[in-house]
Amino acid sequence: MNATSFRVDVSAGSVLFNQGDAPTSAFLLESGSIEVTTEQGQLSRRLGVLGPGDLLGEMAVLDDSPRTATARALSDCVLMPIDRKQFAERLDSADPVVRALLLSQIARYRSALAQLSGQADVPVAVPRSDAAEAALDKIRLESHLREALDKGELEVRLQPILDIARDRIAGFEALTRWTHPERGPVSPAEFIALAEETSLIVPVGDYVLDQVCGALQHLRERGDGEPLFVALNVSGRQLDDQTLLDRFLATLRAHGLSPAQLKIEITESLVLDYDQVAGIIARCHAAGLKVALDDFGTGYSNLGHLHRLEFDTLKMDQGFVRQMHEPRCLAIVRAVVAMADSLGCNIVAEGVETQVQLEALHALGCTYAQGYLIGKPLPLDEAVALAAESAMGNGKSFKQSANPPPSVA
Ligand code: C2E
Ligand code: MG
Ligand code: MG
Repeated sequence: MNATSFRVDVSAGSVLFNQGDAPTSAFLLESGSIEVTTEQGQLSRRLGVLGPGDLLGEMAVLDDSPRTATARALSDCVLMPIDRKQFAERLDSADPVVRALLLSQIARYRSALAQLSGQADVPVAVPRSDAAEAALDKIRLESHLREALDKGELEVRLQPILDIARDRIAGFEALTRWTHPERGPVSPAEFIALAEETSLIVPVGDYVLDQVCGALQHLRERGDGEPLFVALNVSGRQLDDQTLLDRFLATLRAHGLSPAQLKIEITESLVLDYDQVAGIIARCHAAGLKVALDDFGTGYSNLGHLHRLEFDTLKMDQGFVRQMHEPRCLAIVRAVVAMADSLGCNIVAEGVETQVQLEALHALGCTYAQGYLIGKPLPLDEAVALAAESAMGNGKSFKQSANPPPSVA
């Protein structure tokens, strides 16, 4: 065998590695053919013959265990060694579920080979590790989520959004809740991300929209005729779905609703592909749907591109509202409100928890406020009751002072 770091020459009849050897690297067979055999007692069993383009010796490298077979050149061969690190880095950064599946398959294969060669005491089970446990736990949670969706156990709550100047509820944001039978409430950050990793986000999104449309119908029946909107979060994978908009419109039609009552929220971290997002906004507008940029200011916004994206609403991240008592943060909030105004967008301040914050936002000319001060995400009937009271002028007043708003230093 003649080897450099990127090429190994093996002459016909030579052994590349023996069963039981410690793994050094895997190989990509560039030319020639290699026979792979496994020893079973006195017997040698041929597992296969590999040709150009085939990978060999990767299993021992992946699970860092002795070679399970012997590789012998049937003709003069040229191979490219693949360093263990090249696999290890990819395996470490791979989806933990995929990694657990791969290592489980290797363990099963090793066990089957060992049993073929008469070693009965090789365990069939995959060695447990924290990472494998976490991956299995994720699969378990995903199955439970699928089941919860089938049984209609996801609850869509509505968090009120206040029209600050008019001191009345203008709409709601739909926020989904899942209470796991054993674990209790699972945060949407966790289960939406889980659904996003698979195509499960598509039926979850459709389910949420269906619930939202039902809510909008109730709101219309109980309101004073002035239409309220419901904002719906959509995730990246949903946006990639070319049929999403048509399905949204069909669902709205089936409920007898106007597209203008639905606002789609796209989180700022997804606005990386400006052309894609600009196209989505244009199609939403053509269909009569409104679009909001969610979590604005959390680090992904490229102001140089914002002018190309004709969002109807900017939702200022709650981090800004929380720190508005600091003069420099207040200056940024003031600038963001002015910028939204100049762009012709309305602005929602997220995470409004105190009267002082609300008064300050009013003074700055912010359009809408959302947060625990106005209301937490509510079950549907409570949301409808709140909207009806607000529409009739019997609702709680959120502003302490009447106009004009106090000036903010
Ligand atoms: P988001 O769209 O930015 O929603 C606002 C989050 O802030 C919600 O968290 C809400 O409960 C929380 N919040 C509202 N007001 C206050 C406040 O005054 N103080 C504090 N501390 N928090 C407040 P939640 O419900 O845990 O949702 C987290 C994220 O999960 C949402 O962020 C949204 O991105 C995502 N999400 C929730 N439901 C859905 C859904 O049905 N579909 C999709 N694609 N994403 C969803
Ligand atoms: Mg949102
Ligand atoms: Mg948000």
